[in-house]
Amino acid sequence: MSKRVVNKIVAFTLIIATAVFFQGTGNSYADIPKATTPNPTISNVVVKTNEQVTNKQTTNKTNVKVNVKKISIDTVTRKSGTISASWKKNKKANGYRIQYSNDKDFKNVKNKNVKSASKTKTKIAKVNKSKNYYVRVSAYVKKNNKKYYSEWSNVAEVIAWNTKWEFAKNSKIHTDSPTLYFSNAAKKKNKTVCVNAGHGTRGGESVKTLCHPDGSSKVTGGSTSQGAITATSINGGTTLADGTREATATLKLAMTVKKQLLKEGYNVLMVRESDDAQLDNIARTVFANNNADYHIALHYDSTSSNKGAFYISVPNNNKYRSMYPVSKNWKKHNNLGKNLINGMRSAGVKIYGSGSMAIDLTQTSYSTIPSVDLEVGDKRSDHSSKTLKKIAIGIEKGLNKIK
Ligand SMILES: [Zn+2]
Repeated sequence: MSKRVVNKIVAFTLIIATAVFFQGTGNSYADIPKATTPNPTISNVVVKTNEQVTNKQTTNKTNVKVNVKKISIDTVTRKSGTISASWKKNKKANGYRIQYSNDKDFKNVKNKNVKSASKTKTKIAKVNKSKNYYVRVSAYVKKNNKKYYSEWSNVAEVIAWNTKWEFAKNSKIHTDSPTLYFSNAAKKKNKTVCVNAGHGTRGGESVKTLCHPDGSSKVTGGSTSQGAITATSINGGTTLADGTREATATLKLAMTVKKQLLKEGYNVLMVRESDDAQLDNIARTVFANNNADYHIALHYDSTSSNKGAFYISVPNNNKYRSMYPVSKNWKKHNNLGKNLINGMRSAGVKIYGSGSMAIDLTQTSYSTIPSVDLEVGDKRSDHSSKTLKKIAIGIEKGLNKIK
């Protein structure tokens, strides 16, 4: 036989073999164009594809053997140049790999290994306080001297203060960094909710900030009296009837809300995840303005009647409602508040009266995104885990309804 004829026979055999193979697998490779006439050029393509299929199958086989379950991040926080990260345990792992970067696509990464399944936290020292950090974690299993990694966890981003942000100069306390947690849910909402656990800033009461960005006076009373130009940058909050500090109760609720929202596809910006976050009310608002779509501050009111939940609405005062940025956002604030109250009501949370009370707040006065102070109850309200879960579901339901 001539060399050309041999080539033709080889090519034809390969195509038949491949066709049989594709029929057998019945997978997506079936959409690869099929050759009808044998010629050397097509046979080359087929051989290459056949190799790819074989490789893929081998890889799949390996993955089935060492299937490492993905984990999720619990908390990532930064204090004085040290990032602390914690994550959910994978009992079957041999350790974890923590990766961090200043780049959201994790270019120029740094890795840190934790060589124990039971150790689910680590510290990353000497990070740059003026930069944002993205953090993710994966679990690994060691087998035959080889490490097999899980998929990456969700990503957490530690956010640095930016002096160029609008109203940044009005804040007096902003040395700590909030963290933005990206949802890993299959259905993402593509919205970021700032969950602000009210109070919890040591020394915040001895510092004063302007009530309004333009230096005008407060139009209602509240924790600061009407007519005041300045107020405490953030106050210590109340103490609930059972002795729990309001800041402790709001933190527990905030962590519950965070979990619920991440599960349902919202990204969550957490202002505070420990007893003390050095961020005053203006800093919290400015961070939310620049990194979130909604800002929800969680509080317990200082009454003792277990009256139920309500949101702080924007006072019906022309001067206040025409002051920037209130002028551009007050309808959105009230709309957010109404939706949250409706969501909470449908989740079975006790609501106070019509569900709102008008007060001139620092938060509202500086907010450029839909923003509310949500009083989820008062000193006599139950704050067991069961009730907190109900409130969290209510908040999520409320957010889902916003148009
Ligand atoms: Zn409060």
